[in-house]
Amino acid sequence: MDFNDSPQEAQFRAEVRSWLEQQAGGYRQPLDTADVSGYTAKARDWQRKKADAGYAAIRWPRAEGGLDGTPMMEVIFAEEEARYHVPVGPLVTIGTTMAVPTIRKHGSPEQIEQFTRPTLYGDILWCQLFSEPSAGSDLANVRTRAVRDGDDWVINGQKVWTSWAHVADWGILLARTDANVPKHKGLTFFLVDMRSAGIDVRPIQQISGESEFNEVFLTDLRIPDANRIGAVGEGWKVAITTLMNERINAVGDSLSLPSVPEMLQQVRQSGKGLDKHRAAQLLTQELGLRFFRFRLLTSLSKGETPGAISAMSKLVHANMLQDLSAMALESAGLDGICADGDSLMEKFQHGYDWAAALRIAGGTDEILRNQIAERVLGLPGEIRVDKDIPFSECR
Ligand SMILES: Cc1cc2nc3c(=O)[nH]c(=O)nc-3n(C[C@H](O)[C@H](O)[C@H](O)COP(=O)(O)OP(=O)(O)OC[C@H]3O[C@@H](n4cnc5c(N)ncnc54)[C@H](O)[C@@H]3O)c2cc1C
Repeated sequence: MDFNDSPQEAQFRAEVRSWLEQQAGGYRQPLDTADVSGYTAKARDWQRKKADAGYAAIRWPRAEGGLDGTPMMEVIFAEEEARYHVPVGPLVTIGTTMAVPTIRKHGSPEQIEQFTRPTLYGDILWCQLFSEPSAGSDLANVRTRAVRDGDDWVINGQKVWTSWAHVADWGILLARTDANVPKHKGLTFFLVDMRSAGIDVRPIQQISGESEFNEVFLTDLRIPDANRIGAVGEGWKVAITTLMNERINAVGDSLSLPSVPEMLQQVRQSGKGLDKHRAAQLLTQELGLRFFRFRLLTSLSKGETPGAISAMSKLVHANMLQDLSAMALESAGLDGICADGDSLMEKFQHGYDWAAALRIAGGTDEILRNQIAERVLGLPGEIRVDKDIPFSECR
């Protein structure tokens, strides 16, 4: 991508490359995420290094730990960082790219002061307590209740799919404070100290054998009112800030994800025939995504916010990743099941499993298609019959 850099951007890329060569040299091999405490310690340490150099929040003012930089500089850093196996997954980004931007937009000066710097430096890791058994795509259906009691709120309910709740220090929580108004209007946004009494975190085992996400049961959990973000009943507005940031950040380059040329290499090695039509479709998608990305970057570099159109990136990327990984695994036959130390095969297995999760997390394929249809193509909106009736009357 370097060929598209302006002279200033090329200079910044060179600085970043040299910094990474010095600091990230120890991250040339994939990390073992199953070693939760080791991985968490490395994630905190890497975040601290970035924060010390100003790379943890490139667009923020220098006085607040940033570089006064541009969105393009942030993209350049992410591209260069993706050449290493550094620990920069959701364990860190839920805090840096979702919780903190939300707190900075809607929180009080005291809350911004309390949470910004420790998150930037990896001292606070976050989880996102939004989804519930009956609230995922339809997030406003949240049933976890928050009832005011003096200076506290008392929380009861259940969350699910909560990534990294088992190691997080704090969580962002969406709860219902009023069931007598329409569903989007009775929600409030809180910050939860995950070490509080009344939180029971139960890991869910994934197909990959790892347990990155959890069920979280909240029983008479007390949250001080000082940890409320935004006004009572305004939680939906606050959560939208978090969700917008989640979707923008859902797709990232990563060394651990396979590409179409790697798939072609694998099929060639297997000696099996290549389905040329399928391969050509995947190549077209990969190229299309690359040029679509240039368009997003151009709009970012002009200071614009790409909006709903960026949903296309995740939609195409996740499906393409699953298809190309499947094609490589199919060509390998039984060898595709047991990678046996073959790092390329491990990459395809990981790509296949991860693509399935990526097609759901941060907005499912169907929800993204709805978004593109309504907000990009201007097609008529979905019929939402429960939009204007009190939540207590919804079934
Ligand atoms: C890897 C991973 C990590 C996650 N981490 C977190 C986390 O940290 N915190 C958190 O709060 N949540 C997390 N989630 C949950 C995620 O946000 C939800 O899974 C997602 O929003 C979908 O909700 P759901 O699973 O309840 O499915 P549902 O909403 O029940 O959807 C079921 C199916 O119905 C379809 N569907 C639903 N509504 C419509 C519609 N209007 N039109 C057409 N089709 C529709 C969906 O596309 C889907 O295929 C994570 C999920 C994954 C996979």
